[in-house]
Amino acid sequence: MSVEYMVELLKKLVSIDTTSHEHKNFDEIVKVVEEEAKRIGCVTERVVDRRGLPHLKITLPNAPREGKKVIFLTHYDVVPPGEGWTIDPFTPIIKEGKVYGRGASDDKSGIAAALTAFKEVIDEGLEPKIFPVLIVSGGEETGESEEFYRSITGDIGVVLDSGPEGLFIGASGVARLEVTVKGKQEHSAYPFKGKNAIYAAAKVVSFVEEFGKELERTVVSKYDAPEFYEKVPGRVSVTMIRGGVAPNVIPGECTLIIDRRTIPEERAKDAALDLKRRIEEFAKRHGIDVEIKIGPLMDAWATTDQHVIETFKRILGDILGREPKILVELGGTDGAYLIDRMPVVQFGALRGDNNIHGPNEFVYIDDLVLVKEFVKRTVLTAI
Ligand SMILES: [Zn+2]
Repeated sequence: MSVEYMVELLKKLVSIDTTSHEHKNFDEIVKVVEEEAKRIGCVTERVVDRRGLPHLKITLPNAPREGKKVIFLTHYDVVPPGEGWTIDPFTPIIKEGKVYGRGASDDKSGIAAALTAFKEVIDEGLEPKIFPVLIVSGGEETGESEEFYRSITGDIGVVLDSGPEGLFIGASGVARLEVTVKGKQEHSAYPFKGKNAIYAAAKVVSFVEEFGKELERTVVSKYDAPEFYEKVPGRVSVTMIRGGVAPNVIPGECTLIIDRRTIPEERAKDAALDLKRRIEEFAKRHGIDVEIKIGPLMDAWATTDQHVIETFKRILGDILGREPKILVELGGTDGAYLIDRMPVVQFGALRGDNNIHGPNEFVYIDDLVLVKEFVKRTVLTAI
């Protein structure tokens, strides 16, 4: 019965196009969630941030004020559908135990699962042991929600914008470098008069590729990775290249963007400075003229509160019937905006194969049930 309710609610949310870049239907979806939350007996508060984006705070009517304030973080905005869909992205369908549609997984799954958990607690007359606050926010996909997230207060953060592969207790960080390789611009009929910046940049690209392999072997976290790697390693990629002005001109400049992913044991700034120094040394050895800018930087993080980790490990273990893996995300998450004030754990229905941000996004209904149970048991556990 509640699974049916949850799936219907999810379909209703997915059918509202809330494309983040256009702030599309933000007020409408907040109204829909607010009305549904009230209808099932929850207490709601609408917050409009300084940018004018609406968010919701949803609590249980009988939650103990003296209980730990646990923030469940979700977002209602979605990335644009893009190309390649075989269904309408905003006309959700159910097929083989999955719900398809943009946002079905990222992150309307979290809203539907948490609201259903709250509904069950109310309907079954159960007594909350914590003070849960479900945050339903907008502007996450564009980074516009950062300021709002930083204003949230609480004792524990639970980010429901994550995967079900285990209990995530941290996330990787990122350090970006902009490397401008300088050459000498000249007519391409006279290459001997110029200095081709693209050729020089290509050498830097190869150097970064080789360094990336070394990094994955030598900079390795103590924390487990959810996929591919055993432990989360440092990673680096050249992600953008810009150079050349015309087909008949030897390029005088070529710019590379380098994306360095950090582990909780390193600081983004140190990783950026280390990579900058390595590239400068390489460039010097090869007579290449480079100019390197650092930024933006975002530190990796990991929750160290053992009591919180053990509590959520037990909650998840009870649901799964086995000991859950304790993991650190390979990507960054919004936990970064809470971790300076509270311990943060992450669990959600965003499984690796869900085509998140791609065509034909879907969520497994079984994963929705897991997240619903996770929220419900958390509400019923004195932490
Ligand atoms: Zn998300």
